[in-house]
Amino acid sequence: MTKEQVLKKYFGYDTFRPLQSEIIDTILAKQDCLVLMPTGGGKSICFQVPALVFDGLTLVISPLIALMKDQVQALQANGVSAAYINSTLSGAEQRDIETRCRSGELRLLYISPEKLLSPNYLDFIKTLRVTLIAVDESHCVSTWGHDFRPEYTQLHILKKTFPEVPMVALTATADRVTRKDILKQLGISEAKTFIASFDRPNLGLSVLPGRNRLKVIQQFIAKRSNESGIIYCLSRKNTEEVAEGLRKLGIRAMHYHAGIDAQTRSEVQDAFIKDEIQVMVATIAFGMGIDKSNVRFVIHYSLPSNVESFYQEIGRAGRDGLPSDTLLFYSFADIITRKEMIQNSELPDNMKEVQLAKLDRMKQYAESEICRRRVLLSYFNEDAQKDCGNCDVCRNPPVKFDATILTQKALSGIARTNEKVAMGLLIDILRGAQNRNVFEHNFQTLKTFGVGKELKYEEWADYITQMLNSGIIDIAYDERHSLKLNAVSWQVLKGEKKVPLVRFEPYEVKKARQEEEMPREKSKKEVIKDALFDRLRVLRKKLADEQNLPPFVIFSDATLSDMAQKRPINKIQMLAVSGVGEQKFRQFGEKFINEILDFVRENSEGGKTRIAKGFTYTETLDLYQKGLSVEDIAMRRNLSTVTVISHLVKLHEEGNDINLRDLIPSYEYNQIIAAAMRLNMQKGDALKPLFEDLEGLYDYGKLRIAIALWDV
Ligand code: ADP
Ligand code: ZN
Repeated sequence: MTKEQVLKKYFGYDTFRPLQSEIIDTILAKQDCLVLMPTGGGKSICFQVPALVFDGLTLVISPLIALMKDQVQALQANGVSAAYINSTLSGAEQRDIETRCRSGELRLLYISPEKLLSPNYLDFIKTLRVTLIAVDESHCVSTWGHDFRPEYTQLHILKKTFPEVPMVALTATADRVTRKDILKQLGISEAKTFIASFDRPNLGLSVLPGRNRLKVIQQFIAKRSNESGIIYCLSRKNTEEVAEGLRKLGIRAMHYHAGIDAQTRSEVQDAFIKDEIQVMVATIAFGMGIDKSNVRFVIHYSLPSNVESFYQEIGRAGRDGLPSDTLLFYSFADIITRKEMIQNSELPDNMKEVQLAKLDRMKQYAESEICRRRVLLSYFNEDAQKDCGNCDVCRNPPVKFDATILTQKALSGIARTNEKVAMGLLIDILRGAQNRNVFEHNFQTLKTFGVGKELKYEEWADYITQMLNSGIIDIAYDERHSLKLNAVSWQVLKGEKKVPLVRFEPYEVKKARQEEEMPREKSKKEVIKDALFDRLRVLRKKLADEQNLPPFVIFSDATLSDMAQKRPINKIQMLAVSGVGEQKFRQFGEKFINEILDFVRENSEGGKTRIAKGFTYTETLDLYQKGLSVEDIAMRRNLSTVTVISHLVKLHEEGNDINLRDLIPSYEYNQIIAAAMRLNMQKGDALKPLFEDLEGLYDYGKLRIAIALWDV
């Protein structure tokens, strides 16, 4: 089979994604390669397709038991003979798999590095006909990577043992150093490196100020009632509170953190994967090795410590390529918390500096006034060609104004209090607040007291934060967060430097606008599609439960969406849906077709179809399959028999099981075809000359049937 045939037959896809094709060709030419692709980029296809084009066994080295299990499950569901060997298997299970390896029945064997390198195991593997070796999560070989695994450093033995077998190393995260390390450690220095774009255009990016977080989350989820999502929190306690808050509102939410016992953790995770829990509220302990493709949103309750983690976490949304949302809550207090965590950590000073610098990049993302995707991509050394149009900044570019005078007021307030006050007290002074704190220090006598009355507290807070962010003011965390002047402050005070700031927008306005932006008016067609999608989703869940599989293993959201769009009602149409391969069709095709037919039936009234014109064929087919004659169908549907026949001919051409022969006696067929040949007709020519030649003996319906059956 060619690689295209394998892709279609087993995975149900028509085309390769960027780079997949080149990578597979390289592997098929027996060259080693290194593949860098973001999570959800489609790495697995890169070795699974050549595994099936080759006729031997493909070894897949994978570090995580959960991942192995998921991938093997997904392959089996596609009718591919695959298995995994790791420490969780019994001796008997393992022997069974080894037998299948020897007989050549098994095409992909997933194996943990520990198992592979255990005594004598390689000797066994050597006896097999290995045609490809894939090293998944290959950044684990590098001490530079964030997930180093000592066993991985022994893997160089593979290339030595199988010098002729092509090896492909895959990873979603690898900077230049790690990349070099992977090649060196695996002994594949000649490998061709493929770096896919790290852009995930289907992920919408937005940031909101960290206020009323729980309430905002509730509203956010209320608009996504059936969609899976993850909320990342900083502390364990936080996850429990947020989950509790959501449950009170009837949202199926659970918390997850490293403090929960392993048994419960795995149950909760399982329930999430099976769509029984809608929202997982978790610390960063959650997500590694989760292959759930239909996560529709990821929310960060507080600021992550660096861009890598952030990108990896939001990357768990939308792996199926469908639009998904990400939301980050951000406040200055979060930055302070994070900074304190770093300062108080056990890290050596130089590492602290690195961490602080990384935090700073994260802050830049949160405060960005340019396209947020540009900020992310530039972090990964990628140059975005244009603004993305799918982030909050692109949708609503910030408006700036000259804030020099306003800034001078704040700076002079800081100067006159001898740089000893924190933000809250400074705002009280500027606004002329009559409170104890102010009187205690006699601040009501200052020249700056009340010079900023015209602005509300939250406006000042916003502007001072911007001043801090743009380096016009410093903050001394070790002096109870008092604000300090620096060289830039003095330039501004002396009138040597102008200060542009982003116009404050009340929080409610900002939030309301952001939420409005997301869902557009849906067209009638989309409403129907969504209704059908929901039906198919329910069916998927039912089938998944029957087979004890995660729903997305049966069909991904992307596949269901394509199905709801195309509404296939026969085999050919069903196989044209992206993600429906032959095995999936055999197992589930008919059930989904029946569901679609039911949906159509329920949504039509009498003869006229209420929902969409495209359904007219479906309805005719439905009645035909129930055994109604052409005349009965015509009567029932209030159509002419000629129209019904034209439907049946079209359905026949599309591959439906329609016996046109039954609709025309053979002498009539012979007579019509004889006339057609006399006239030198071709299939597809207009029927009028034929009709006239036969002097109206047969109506157009009959002619159409005869020509459709005509074997030229
Ligand atoms: P990764 O391992 O890089 O995170 P996966 O291999 O799990 O990504 O692929 C992510 C999703 O994209 C899966 O649902 C997969 O079936 C789908 N996918 C991969 N390649 C294609 C393709 N050529 N066409 C359509 N969908 C694809
Ligand atoms: Zn953008």
